[in-house]
Amino acid sequence: VRSRKPNEAKRRNSPRVRPNNLCVLCGKIHMPIVKKREIEKLEQMSGEELKRFLDRLPERQQTISKMLDYIEDQLWDSECDDHLKHAMRFMMDNRLDFPKLTSWLNQNGGYCDCKVLEQIAPLWRVKFGDD
Ligand SMILES: [Zn+2]
Repeated sequence: VRSRKPNEAKRRNSPRVRPNNLCVLCGKIHMPIVKKREIEKLEQMSGEELKRFLDRLPERQQTISKMLDYIEDQLWDSECDDHLKHAMRFMMDNRLDFPKLTSWLNQNGGYCDCKVLEQIAPLWRVKFGDD
């Protein structure tokens, strides 16, 4: 059984995106993020505000954590194709609400798999932990 989580060395190397929005893997410039994303405020949230955030999530917190782990694992072995290929795979395998989850990822800067790892996963994990 393959480990669900990448090891430490692997984690230090990711996400594979340069700060100027040029995707290292697909070589394209992804859409710049202009407005403040909800995920950026996550770290400061607590109490009622955090509860509202969780209520508005397109899926359960644990499911989204699993999806982030899954994408990270997949991107380690393959390249980002400038789409949410691995995210979609996870959604299909788990019969998740495709449009809802995709639009949530997009709103938070996750325009493709590697952007999900760059823009969402670190902020998510600061709040909810790494496992
Ligand atoms: Zn990409």
